Amino acid sequence: MSSLVRRKIPTPERMRVWVRSGGRCAVCGRYLLEGKLTHEEFSLGELAHIVGQQTTKGSPRGDYDLPVAERDLAENLMLVCADDHDEIDRNGALDTLTVDRLRKIKHSHEDWVRRMTGLDRSRGTAVVRMIGAVRGNVVELSKPTASAAVLHSDDRFPEFPLSYEQYGFEIDLRHLPAEGTEIYWTAATAAIDEVIEHKLNQAVRGEHVRHLSLFAFARLPLLVYLGSRLDDTYEVAIYQRHRSTNGWAWPEVTSVPAFAVESPPIDESADAGEPVGAALVLNVSGTIQPDELPQEVADLPRHVMTPVGQTPGVETISSPAALDAFTETVRALLSRLEVTDKHLSVLHVFAAMPLSAGVALGRARDPHVHPPFLIYDRTDSGYTPVLEIS
Ligand SMILES: [Zn+2]
Repeated sequence: MSSLVRRKIPTPERMRVWVRSGGRCAVCGRYLLEGKLTHEEFSLGELAHIVGQQTTKGSPRGDYDLPVAERDLAENLMLVCADDHDEIDRNGALDTLTVDRLRKIKHSHEDWVRRMTGLDRSRGTAVVRMIGAVRGNVVELSKPTASAAVLHSDDRFPEFPLSYEQYGFEIDLRHLPAEGTEIYWTAATAAIDEVIEHKLNQAVRGEHVRHLSLFAFARLPLLVYLGSRLDDTYEVAIYQRHRSTNGWAWPEVTSVPAFAVESPPIDESADAGEPVGAALVLNVSGTIQPDELPQEVADLPRHVMTPVGQTPGVETISSPAALDAFTETVRALLSRLEVTDKHLSVLHVFAAMPLSAGVALGRARDPHVHPPFLIYDRTDSGYTPVLEIS
């Protein structure tokens, strides 16, 4: 290599590469204007040739078909740190780090920089994660996983504001004992209250938060509870984990289901003064049979929601639009009940639905006008009431 006469790369081309790469190594993403140890300002970036600068053997990937005059242009250069530059040019790496592979790495990094730096800064979203167990199962829901889903699904910056080590708003229920018992529900709702009241609401009051991206994996009653604790001063985008992809980004689905509610006829003869309960059965991801409902609820008026023209299944809610359609149907039902069932004392809720719909259900309830929800949890011995939302 030392025998080669290295040409100096023209300043405009150097500048192009630095700007396109956002000052970061195209391979490892390291910021290249600051030392790792001293945090002093240094220029640690190097420009690596994709097709070698020379056509001679000692120049890595130099035997590729590209006119020499084009080899010092930004298109053929990538900004990298010294370590990655060294590895790219090692003899042993040349078979793996081919011209095509390096071009892909460069373009994907430069596209990402351009996209990120082009986002409107007012379009930030605060990420809220709630992680619990569902019948002993826990899923991966790290900060990078949530970020990737937001960037894929929404034109917003994921933010993890305010908190300890910038982990954002995290409700961790994994350490709670005795999943599904009364102690568990009490401890879990307290953990939710703690984060919502002391961290989130404080950030909202400080106007740091205008939009939330919510990721939650826990028992369904807790998702309804979480939804009920969010207020209307900010928008909320709700995410769920998809079995089809094992990921949290919404898949590209365009068809939106409609939902319908079958309600009992209005009983004009009912004693107007007597408060009564009603049952709400939400058959979204599965179907709850009438004989599965507990005895004490069996005789109550029953409102049953199902998707129109399709069998309830795990894919019924596969897009934010489908979730909106679900929420609208719940809201319409609650508004109708306000008029027709003025004396409704409690709504017994039985739900076979995805977790995102749990959050949406809790959020749809207006505490000033709607009856309390009594949320039932499905266990081996049937449905039992576990949480009241009032
Ligand atoms: Zn690097």
